[in-house]
Amino acid sequence: MLKETYDLNDIVEMKKEHPCHKSKLWQITRMGADIKIRCQGCGAVIMFPRHEFEKKMKKVVQRASSEE
Ligand SMILES: [Zn+2]
Repeated sequence: MLKETYDLNDIVEMKKEHPCHKSKLWQITRMGADIKIRCQGCGAVIMFPRHEFEKKMKKVVQRASSEE
């Protein structure tokens, strides 16, 4: 029931890895009605509507805001 929170520049793990197979990790590069994430393996950027992103995200791996 715990809702995962996420923010700009956070590193997240998606349920499916990118077809490049280099990484399951993505960085959030845009927050809005649509969420844009960049593959940490190959640099490809994809965009999801927010509700779809939340369905496909597994967990937040690293929070940009709590790093310092
Ligand atoms: Zn990739």
